[in-house]
Amino acid sequence: MEALSDTAKLAAQKIASARALTVLTGAGISKESGIPTFRDARDGLWAKYDPHELATREGFLANPRIVWEWYEYRRDMVRKAVPNPGHLALAAIEKLISECTVITQNVDGLHQTAGTGNVIELHGNIMRNKCFEEDRVVRSWDDRTVPPTCSCGSPIRPDVVWFGEPLPAALLERAFTVSRASDVMMVVGTSGFVQPAASLPVVALQSGAWIVQVNIEPTPLSAEVHVFIEGKSGLVLPYIVRCLEEILGNRSPY
Ligand code: NAD
Repeated sequence: MEALSDTAKLAAQKIASARALTVLTGAGISKESGIPTFRDARDGLWAKYDPHELATREGFLANPRIVWEWYEYRRDMVRKAVPNPGHLALAAIEKLISECTVITQNVDGLHQTAGTGNVIELHGNIMRNKCFEEDRVVRSWDDRTVPPTCSCGSPIRPDVVWFGEPLPAALLERAFTVSRASDVMMVVGTSGFVQPAASLPVVALQSGAWIVQVNIEPTPLSAEVHVFIEGKSGLVLPYIVRCLEEILGNRSPY
């Protein structure tokens, strides 16, 4: 606890004096909301399913019904999930700091549900759908088929980035721009194995940002960051918020 209090206080001090804070989050921050991560050996989604069958264009074309039903199963999980103290802490930090951007690889929308306003969803949102052929968001469709059908006749798919697909260019550019411009970055609950998101802390470091990483275990990035805090984001982030509130005291304009 001593180590956590020291490192959390240091992180809070850096955040308190930050001009621009960027937070990069991954599946780990939603774990305490009951949504499994992709790579956790014990219960990660890919330990049970083959990503090439369920999260690629080829997989969808080969087995559209199975892929659609797998996403329905995951949507069900997301519908039942509520933000945990980690999500809520980030929403609180946004209110205490003048410039804060959350870049997430998650597709569950829990940052927004928690009240964070400035979120870049790099990998899409599982609750949204788009036309497989035309790649445009659709909100109504013919659901007599599984998967349902767009007015153009092509199948509807979830609006998430699958393996082998490019990320939305404008969002990716914004993510790199805010990462370069940030003087403090928090990297929370991501293994750092998925590119190009994994490069965001690297460009932030190269641009002189101070970086704190929060994870239940070290990742390859841990040796590069200024401070690594080992622990669950649902415990560590609220602790940082309490330190931040103490530091800011009456200084907070909010
Ligand atoms: P990942 O599964 O590769 O890594 C998860 C990381 O979170 C690991 O490093 C793990 O040690 C850490 N972690 C687990 N529990 C934690 C906790 N309570 N607190 C802090 N850290 C914890 O996930 P990733 O790095 O996000 O990348 C893989 C892909 O997973 C992304 O493309 C993302 O789109 C997708 N994904 C999203 C969701 C979601 O929307 N909730 C769920 C699963 C996967």
